[in-house]
Amino acid sequence: MHEGFIIYCMDLDPSQFCLPPTIRFACSLCAACCHQWPVPLSHSDADRIAAHLGRSRSDLGFAGLHHDQSTRFSLTLPRDASGACRFLGPDKSCTLHDAYVDDLPVKPAMCAVFPYGFLHCPDGIFVSVSFASTAVIQNTGSLLSEVPVDRLEMIYRQYQALDTQAAKRSKEYFAAESMELVSGLALPFAEFRQLNNLLLDDFVKNAACSSKIDAVQLIAGFMQRLWRLDRLSNAKYGLAKWPGCAFEPQQLDNLLLSGLADRYMPNTGFGVDFDPYGLKLVRGVQDALTTNDYVGREYRGSSYTASHEDFQSGSKIDDLLLRYCLVKIYGRIYCGIGFGELSMMAGLGHLLCLVVLLKNSGLSYEDVSQSLRLMDAILTNTLYDRDCRSMLEIFFLDPDRPARLKYSNAR
Ligand code: SF4
Repeated sequence: MHEGFIIYCMDLDPSQFCLPPTIRFACSLCAACCHQWPVPLSHSDADRIAAHLGRSRSDLGFAGLHHDQSTRFSLTLPRDASGACRFLGPDKSCTLHDAYVDDLPVKPAMCAVFPYGFLHCPDGIFVSVSFASTAVIQNTGSLLSEVPVDRLEMIYRQYQALDTQAAKRSKEYFAAESMELVSGLALPFAEFRQLNNLLLDDFVKNAACSSKIDAVQLIAGFMQRLWRLDRLSNAKYGLAKWPGCAFEPQQLDNLLLSGLADRYMPNTGFGVDFDPYGLKLVRGVQDALTTNDYVGREYRGSSYTASHEDFQSGSKIDDLLLRYCLVKIYGRIYCGIGFGELSMMAGLGHLLCLVVLLKNSGLSYEDVSQSLRLMDAILTNTLYDRDCRSMLEIFFLDPDRPARLKYSNAR
């Protein structure tokens, strides 16, 4: 097992932070996260900003979210015509940074926490970072493992203020042993941890080696291993065996990819056609096949820029996707309470399809990065409804899909 993995995963005190190995972040002051998407604001954030500026909240034009039922936030930061936050200074620095009201930072908690995320698990508080951040995409800055603990604690306190129920929800979820291998098949946390660690170990080893296997092959190979588990090898889980199910497998693969592209890479852009409950995903799978040209095409010309050296090598896309999956798998944010309460198999299938989409899109590194940024911003705000969750569970009940996607990835 990889050394970094042992250091960060084993024998932890539950109060300890667990940090993904090989992942770096230090704010690059690009201000990209201060553009384009609505930054949620709590009422207490709004009060502090108004007090700091000596103005009323209504004067400041705090807007309501389009879908406030998707989060506990009901306000967003005001933006100017270019989509930039009104509190962004001309030098791209935040004008609220380092301002305090009654010893509390004025900067909205969401801005202070970004791009960090935390998940309470029985064996620790797992830290992840959002790939909506330029620095995370580019893997620049110090290793997360080098972030001083007192700084992490400070960020974590603000995260808790954002969602006071998060720890309680996780505790209840794990206490109820709610994880599933596939829908309806319980997965005790100890077994999940063991399986997740095996998969993670593959990712850590490959992230550190030059002749790496790509993320698609790693996830697909792992899913095939899972399908060989005694509990899963029962043919009744094959979608083709379901009465009345006449889908051609490859047609369904394509429809699924099409639906996911429609869901996570909407050509109208994040915030304009925001769909937190995944309804477009349900509609998308009923639509005709999409073409590769579709994915990400509309994001050219946005405020995100990356250095031109970044676009030289195709393997940079593999590195990016490998790191992306590593963070999701390390942080346990692809299934269970970490993401949509999907079963492990559906969560892995979902992650696999997202990576296949990005990898097979034929896009430049620049466009893949930008699509991934938007995709992760959407994923962070996603709350699947029951129908959508059920549909994903059914879609990923085809044991041969990972192999087909792996094959299509290799072409
Ligand atoms: S408040 Fe500051 S950090 Fe937050 S979006 Fe606005 S400019 Fe950026």
